[in-house]
Amino acid sequence: MPKKVLLVGGGITSALIGNILRSDFENINLSLWEKLSEAGGRFNTITGGKNNELLVDLGAQSDKWNAVTETGKEELFDVVILTIPVPEILKLTGDLESLLFNNLVREHLSAVEYSSRFALGLFFDKGVFTEWDAEYIDDDSVLRYTANDSWKAHGEPKFKSAKVFKHWPEPSSTVICQWSYSQVFKPYYSKPGSVILNEKPLLIAGGDGFIGSTFDDCIFSAKTICNLLSNNYCGK
Ligand SMILES: Cc1cc2nc3c(=O)[nH]c(=O)nc-3n(C[C@H](O)[C@H](O)[C@H](O)COP(=O)(O)OP(=O)(O)OC[C@H]3O[C@@H](n4cnc5c(N)ncnc54)[C@H](O)[C@@H]3O)c2cc1C
Repeated sequence: MPKKVLLVGGGITSALIGNILRSDFENINLSLWEKLSEAGGRFNTITGGKNNELLVDLGAQSDKWNAVTETGKEELFDVVILTIPVPEILKLTGDLESLLFNNLVREHLSAVEYSSRFALGLFFDKGVFTEWDAEYIDDDSVLRYTANDSWKAHGEPKFKSAKVFKHWPEPSSTVICQWSYSQVFKPYYSKPGSVILNEKPLLIAGGDGFIGSTFDDCIFSAKTICNLLSNNYCGK
C-alpha cells in the first residue's frame, strides 16, 4: 500500500520536498493542500484568491491523521508535512493543540518572528522615468525600496539616487500588496530546518520559519524534511 503523504502549503519549500519525494522515494501517494488558487507562496508576485484547501484541523486517528479543510473536506493521511508560516501552524485546531500544550516545542514555535512588508504597485500606460531602474531609500521612515520593474527586466541599468515620487504623474491603475509574514526575523531555536511535531502518526513542520528566508534556507529545510521522512517512516 502506498503511504499517503499530505503537504500543506504550496510554497517553494513544499515544491522542493515534492520534487525530492517524487524522484527519490518509492511507494508514496502525495497530495498538496494550498489555501490560495495559485501555488508559489511568498515567491508569488501577487497571490490569487482562496482555493478552499485551507487546512484548519488535524486530528490523530490511531496511526493516521485526519486532515480537515475550512469547507469540511476531510481525508486520512499517514504523514502530514506543514510548510506554512509558523503562526499559521499555531492556528490549527484538533489534536495538534493538545500535542503542543505545555511543551517546549510550542514555546519555540511561539518565539518565531517574521517581518511584515507592504508594497504599492503603480501602473503607467507609457514610460515616464528616465534616470533609474531601482533604488533603496534610506532616509524615509516608511519607504525602503522602489523599482521600475519593466526596466529592471529589460532595460540597461541606470541607478541614480533620487526621490521622484512627487513628480510622478497619475498611474492608470494601482495594486497594494501586504505580506503579514514576509521574511523570517527570528527563526526557530537553533535553526534545525524542520521539526517533528508528532512521531506516530508522523507530523513534520518546516519552511523558512525553521531556518531563515533565503532560497538556500528553503532547500536546506526541504532536505531535512525528506531525511526525517526517510529515517522515521518512508524508506527510499
Ligand atoms: C515581499 C517579499 C520579498 C522577499 N524577498 C526575498 C528575496 O529577495 N530573497 C529570498 O531569498 N527570499 C525573499 N523572500 C522570502 C521568501 O519568499 C520566503 O522565504 C519563501 O518564499 C518561503 O517559502 P516557504 O515555502 O517556506 O513558505 P511560503 O512561501 O509562505 O509557503 C507557504 C504556503 O502555505 C499556504 N498556507 C498558509 N496557511 C495554510 C493553511 N492553513 N492551509 C493551506 N495552505 C496554507 C500559503 O498560502 C503559502 O502558499 C521575500 C518574501 C516576501 C514576502
